[in-house]
Amino acid sequence: MPLICGMKKLSCLTALIFSLTVLFAQTSSRKTIDRPRLVVGIVVDQMRWDFLYRYYDRYQVNGGFRRMLDKGFSCENTFIPYAPTVTACGHTCIYTGSMPAIHGITGNAWYDRSQRRSVYCTEDTSVHTVGGAEGANGRQSPRNLLVSTICDELKLATNFRSKVIGIAIKDRGGILPAGHTANAAYWYDSRSGNWITSDYYMQQLPAWVQSLNNKKLPDAYYAKGWNTLYPINTYVQSTTDEKVYESKPFGADAKGFPYNFSKYVGTNYGILATTPYGNSFTFDMARAAVEGEMLGRDSITDILAVSFSSPDYIGHSFGPNSIEVEDTYLRLDRELGEFFRYLDAKVGAGQYLAFLSADHGVAHIPGFMQEYKLPGKAMDEAPFMAEMAPLLKQQFGSDKLIVSSYNYQVHLDHRLIDSLKIDLKAVKKWIAAYLEKKEPIARAFDIDEVMLEPMPQKVREMIANGYNPNRNGDVQFILKPHYIDGWNTGTTHGLWNPYDAHIPLLWYGWGVKTGKLNREVYMSDIAPTLAAMLKIQMPGGSVGNVIVEVMK
Ligand code: ZN
Ligand code: ZN
Repeated sequence: MPLICGMKKLSCLTALIFSLTVLFAQTSSRKTIDRPRLVVGIVVDQMRWDFLYRYYDRYQVNGGFRRMLDKGFSCENTFIPYAPTVTACGHTCIYTGSMPAIHGITGNAWYDRSQRRSVYCTEDTSVHTVGGAEGANGRQSPRNLLVSTICDELKLATNFRSKVIGIAIKDRGGILPAGHTANAAYWYDSRSGNWITSDYYMQQLPAWVQSLNNKKLPDAYYAKGWNTLYPINTYVQSTTDEKVYESKPFGADAKGFPYNFSKYVGTNYGILATTPYGNSFTFDMARAAVEGEMLGRDSITDILAVSFSSPDYIGHSFGPNSIEVEDTYLRLDRELGEFFRYLDAKVGAGQYLAFLSADHGVAHIPGFMQEYKLPGKAMDEAPFMAEMAPLLKQQFGSDKLIVSSYNYQVHLDHRLIDSLKIDLKAVKKWIAAYLEKKEPIARAFDIDEVMLEPMPQKVREMIANGYNPNRNGDVQFILKPHYIDGWNTGTTHGLWNPYDAHIPLLWYGWGVKTGKLNREVYMSDIAPTLAAMLKIQMPGGSVGNVIVEVMK
């Protein structure tokens, strides 16, 4: 406050005392950085953005989606900025603000050039299962992730006083978001029906996880079976129940609703993931974590990173135009609403910051598309690889040049190519030309030349953002729109197209405005926005931008 020298001495002194008082009051009212008690990150596996509106009329006013849409902030045009649009890459991008080219998670699995084998994104043979039988299910950690996540950065910012817990049916959905320094990530063991972890995090399960496992809730869920929430003829947003192009995850004899799961009690815990009860069990675990770990109970911000894997399993089987998917989202909406009411009571309304997004979307089932005269087919690339082998022998002297075809890429044996003194570029060019003649394939090219390929910049950049030299192939191919890498039943996701890449992004609670944004933003903007809101460092590989419109 300026002191005006023409004033009488007394009033100058009064003004000085007044300004010091104001300054002192301001300083003392802000003892700590203003942060939420808890950040709840929610990823719905395979949720397309249009599902927010496709089922809007039947979402409950007190449900989770309507709460976030009506009282929170929706970034309506949020896109994935890379390919392949698959689970591991999505969860990683959301929590790192980074791209496969930098964070190294180039797929759910990839052919690793230096190890000369396929690597699963979270595999780690140096660790062991905790809470279940020893085996591949539990031998997981975030070690293949090359950068920090926003959860790691929160830990660093609070000198590790913050708690971070990751939870998902899928191991990668819990592990990759939670990052390297998490207190724990928990995932579902399809053999035992239990929540498990690995000794990367701890030596034994906490009592609260053990006691949840002891309840054997999957059996109780199986006993309920799956019928629609509402009379089946009211599902006007979906095709009739049974279609030949749906895959049959509950067996060939399971002919639509109501599904009876009693045969799975005590015998098959894997199938839980393909029912809405996979979500219910994830909510059970999330509530148990809030309780057991006292998340959000003090002023040191914690993060609960929870991912709902079941919509992906259900979506792959039945497709986005099915009653199964519609019913799954109507149930998820209700359960998410309940979860928010639980957090309001436990953590306090306005005391937590929630965001919701998806790791990718999904294409319609090709058979459904054909039924309505829309373009789209399924493609199985295995025969193309088999056809090429003898031709490559004729052309270059070996039928062993291709070692893998994965993530829409062909991987070559560089060592063999060197030893045979073949020109690598010529092999790549030959394979690209061969593949491009195939009906489902729109483009095929040497991935080193992606930025020279004459195609829309957005597609070029998405491929380049997904390209990490040691963990990618040599020849990239892109399918025609609506074509999927799969079979005649069910569907999938994985390429640049909006049905795969346009995802919801909702914000709710602490520090969040009410509103909508139509400007295009990206999945990679989520972590930098969280960093700005929490006033912490952005993750180490972040290339995103802060979405300033979200913040109060
Ligand atoms: Zn996914
Ligand atoms: Zn999927």
